[in-house]
Amino acid sequence: MLDGYQNTQPIVYKILKNAIIDDQYSHAYLIETGGFYDAFNFVMAFSKSLLCPLKKLTKENCAECHQCEVIDSGNFPEIEIIAPDGLWIKKEQLQNLQKEFNTKALIGNKRIYIINQTEKLNKSAANSILKFLEEPEGNIIAILMTDNIYNVLSTIRSRCQILRLKSSNKNIDASNPIQKIIKIIKQENEMDDETLELKTSKVIEFINYYEKNHLNTLLYIGKLWNDYINSKEELNYAYEIMIDYYKDILNYKLNKALDIFEINNDIKNIAQKNTQEEICEKINKLVELKELIKYNINSSLLMDKLIMSLEGVI
Ligand SMILES: [Zn+2]
Repeated sequence: MLDGYQNTQPIVYKILKNAIIDDQYSHAYLIETGGFYDAFNFVMAFSKSLLCPLKKLTKENCAECHQCEVIDSGNFPEIEIIAPDGLWIKKEQLQNLQKEFNTKALIGNKRIYIINQTEKLNKSAANSILKFLEEPEGNIIAILMTDNIYNVLSTIRSRCQILRLKSSNKNIDASNPIQKIIKIIKQENEMDDETLELKTSKVIEFINYYEKNHLNTLLYIGKLWNDYINSKEELNYAYEIMIDYYKDILNYKLNKALDIFEINNDIKNIAQKNTQEEICEKINKLVELKELIKYNINSSLLMDKLIMSLEGVI
């Protein structure tokens, strides 16, 4: 559903939503995906909204019309998807598409073709698409996708409305908050998602425990931490989470939007108990101690140091 992208892609969402509501759309869009992980689903959601016969009535995403269901199942004949066949998108693929569009009866009121990896159009395919773009038929809409619009021929570019998606880095809209954190923080590491999920929640639990128990946390580091976080890789990941957690607590305190976490009681409590300066100081200490991981410091020693340093004892 297009409305699901209101937060992750606010600008492009608005442009396309208005196009749908006013029924004033371009005949060709060039969408730069910019590393947005959900770009293809986004394009499908847009296509669905364009075609949905109920959209005029509701001005909302349709949840249950038969046509939208058929589109979801991947069997709707008025949406064609073209992707590279081997290294390139070939002329024949576009010719077949044109033939199909010319001979089949139209169901509904529009046809859409989506080209994935538009930069992979070979020369003759690019020429045949140019003709298509130059003389658009009233009811055909082209949606061209690419990672980088500058890899697409300028003659194609100039005939399209260009839309650039925001990269997903700090704005992932996942329903599971832990999954969301993992997606954002996970760099190159070997842990599988299940392991990461467990470790991520343990690290957050650890901070929540520390914020209530302060120095007493030292007595339970074995149970709270060493059972889960040990290797250099795990420590690095854990420190990233802790830093981002305090940053979001600071965001909350400053009435700013949170980057990664969702507001919950723990975040509210910690923000209430700490001054702005204290939170900044905690972030600084975490950043400083994270440096020690490089030198293979032992995990429980590092955590002792962390607690004492957060408490201002050392
Ligand atoms: Zn519908």
